[in-house]
Amino acid sequence: MPTKNVIKFTFKTVEEAEKYAKEKLGLKNVDYAGNLAFANLSNMALQDAKNCGIDLNELCIAPFDKPVPSDISAQYYWPTKKLSFNNRNYEHDWNKIVEKGINISEKSGDYASTLPQYTIHHELGHYVHFKYNFDLARTAELLNHKILSKDYNLSEKEREMFGIFLRYRNLMRDDTINKQVSHYGNAGIHEFVAEVFAGQMAGKKYSDEIMQLYKDAGGFLPQKTNGK
Ligand SMILES: [Zn+2]
Repeated sequence: MPTKNVIKFTFKTVEEAEKYAKEKLGLKNVDYAGNLAFANLSNMALQDAKNCGIDLNELCIAPFDKPVPSDISAQYYWPTKKLSFNNRNYEHDWNKIVEKGINISEKSGDYASTLPQYTIHHELGHYVHFKYNFDLARTAELLNHKILSKDYNLSEKEREMFGIFLRYRNLMRDDTINKQVSHYGNAGIHEFVAEVFAGQMAGKKYSDEIMQLYKDAGGFLPQKTNGK
């Protein structure tokens, strides 16, 4: 399990961090764009993931191609398997997270953990969702689109997923997700999955009800493989 509130990686240069991510952590491609704070946070989160049995060989990390608003810190996009991070309007915040040793955006249960590497844990939650349970993750995405466009001509898989959505909605309405996971876990089933993943990476335990929903929606169960 990750060390709490301690920046344990202290790469001196971005090049060294990129080399480590590719050669030791096995990523497909890494471009930290000169951002040493982000490079250290990211490598720490990636190491946590690797220690939990996650294969990182399909993952690419690079800054956003286009400028994004300052409130967007990072994002994962499954078709390109790219984790993008905000290297323009958020650079100050990455430095602050490293300085303070906590994720500064965390306040009153907004997000699943206060670990400095939380943001990357969350995005890795999307990566493993699509990597290990593609069918369920994709079905949830398609169903979301159908619901938004009021198309109720559902396939069998989508009907099953609809049942999962209803259970999710009930846990949202009775405040279970707010209380146990985070406010952000209410932003849709994919965010719920990423938040529960990030919480587990910070050593959190959840009720059976939350864990059952997480598994049924295709959430990945981190395994402690090499005891770190
Ligand atoms: Zn997310």
